[in-house]
Amino acid sequence: MKSSVLFAAALAASAAFVAASGRPVAAKSSPVCAACVKANMERLAGDDLRGRGCGSADENAASRFIVDILRRSKIDPAFGKDGYLQAVQLLTPTPAAPPTLTVTKDGQQVTLLQGRDMIAFESPVSLDAPLVVVTDSRAAADVVKGKVVVFDTPIQDLPGVQILLHTGAAAVIAPANDQISEHWDELAARPPGRTQITGVPPHAGPALGVSIFAKPDAMKAVRGLAGGEARLDAPRGPPKERTTYNVLGVLHGTAPDADRHALLLTAHYDHLGVRNGVIFHGANDDASGTSAVLEFARILGSSKRNKRTVYFGLFGCEEEGELGAQYFLGHAPMATSDLMANLEFEMIGVDDPQRPGALMLTGWERTNLGPALQAHGAHVGPDLYPQQHFFQRSDNYQLALKGVVAQTVSAWPVPPTYHAASDDLAHVDLKFMDTVIGSMVEPVTWLLNSDFQPAWLEGQKP
Ligand SMILES: [Zn+2]
Repeated sequence: MKSSVLFAAALAASAAFVAASGRPVAAKSSPVCAACVKANMERLAGDDLRGRGCGSADENAASRFIVDILRRSKIDPAFGKDGYLQAVQLLTPTPAAPPTLTVTKDGQQVTLLQGRDMIAFESPVSLDAPLVVVTDSRAAADVVKGKVVVFDTPIQDLPGVQILLHTGAAAVIAPANDQISEHWDELAARPPGRTQITGVPPHAGPALGVSIFAKPDAMKAVRGLAGGEARLDAPRGPPKERTTYNVLGVLHGTAPDADRHALLLTAHYDHLGVRNGVIFHGANDDASGTSAVLEFARILGSSKRNKRTVYFGLFGCEEEGELGAQYFLGHAPMATSDLMANLEFEMIGVDDPQRPGALMLTGWERTNLGPALQAHGAHVGPDLYPQQHFFQRSDNYQLALKGVVAQTVSAWPVPPTYHAASDDLAHVDLKFMDTVIGSMVEPVTWLLNSDFQPAWLEGQKP
C-alpha cells in the first residue's frame, strides 16, 4: 500500500473504530495449499529478491517468478502469444543535489535542506516568491496567491495545507506531523518530481503548489523572516530510466459471454527495495496479496472451469504511485466494461487485533459485493478505518474511477510493520493467511458461476 501524506493527518486523528462484523463460519477442509503459500512467500519476501524495489532487477526477477507460477498453474497468458508480461517504461526525475529552500530578509539568510530540515514534495527546478506567514488556512487569496506561505499552526493541519495550496500558494511550509516524522527518511528520498510512464498521458488538472514539511527548528527559523524572499532550488540530474512489468494471466470461462463478465484478481508485487543497505522485504506489503492471487490461480487453474472469465493481475511499482496499474488501465487486455469486478489483495499477512481472524473490504458500504461474498462464507467485513480512506489508496481506485466495482481486501492495514524493515517473514502469520484465503475460495467460485451482478449502491460510485 502506498503511503500518503494527505492521509497522515486523518491517521493521526483516528481514534474510534467500527465494531467488528466478521461472521463466524463453520470449519471445513481448506482448498489452500499451505506449502505453496509458504513457498511463494519465502521466494517473494526472501533475501534474494531484496525487497522488489520498483523497476529494479530484483522486481523484474520477481515478475519472472510470478510468470512461472501462473504457467505451472495452467493459467493462460493474457496477451495471447505475446505472453504474460507487460513492460512499462518509466522515466523518473532525479535530484542533482538535495533541494534547498533559502529565505533572505534584511541581510539575514536561512537555508533549509531536504532531509535535514525539511521535506519538499514534487518541487519545480526553481521557484522564487515572497514569503508570508499565515496562521489560518482560510487566509485571503490576495495574501497567499503566488507566495511561499509559512503555515504557522500549533496543531497538525494537513487539510489546511491543502486549502492554502488550492487558494493559490506557490508553496506551503508546515510543521511535519508524527506520521511524516516516522517515515522521514523514506519520504525525503522520494524523487523531486513525478515519474513519467511512457504511453500514459501526464496528469491533467490544475497544478498545485509545493508542500513542504519542516522540523520545529526550521519552522521557527523561517517564521522569523516574514516579508523576506524565498527561493526553492531542486536541480535535476539525468532522469532515471527503469522498466517494470505487470504480469497478467487469464482463465477463460465456459459461458458464451464469459469474457464480458470477467473478474479481475490483483495485487502488487513490488515493495521498497533496499534502503541504506537494509532490505525492506515487504512480506505483508504485498508479498501476502501476491501470494493470495497466486494461490487463487493455482486452485482455479486445477479446478473445473467456471462460467465467467477470471484475470490475474500482478502489478509492479505500486509503491511509487500505482505506476504499473496506471499503465495497465490504458493498455489492458480487456475492455474495462467487460470487468464485473476487481478484488485487490493488499496486506493480508497480519491479523488485525480489532477483528481477529477476518479480512476487511474497503468501500464495503459502497457496493453489494462485500455482503454477497460474506453471505457465501468469506471471512470479510467492513473497513474498520474509513477515516484513512484506504478505498482510495490502492490500485483498485483507478479502476473504480472508471466505474468498475473495484475494492481492496486487507487484513490489518496499519500494522506496526507498515513500511518498516520489520515487514518480513517473521512478522507475517501464514496460518492466518491460509485461513482467510481459504475462506474466499468458495465465494469467488460462486461469483464466477452465478448471475450475480456486483454493483455500486445508489450514489456510492466514486
Ligand atoms: Zn506499501
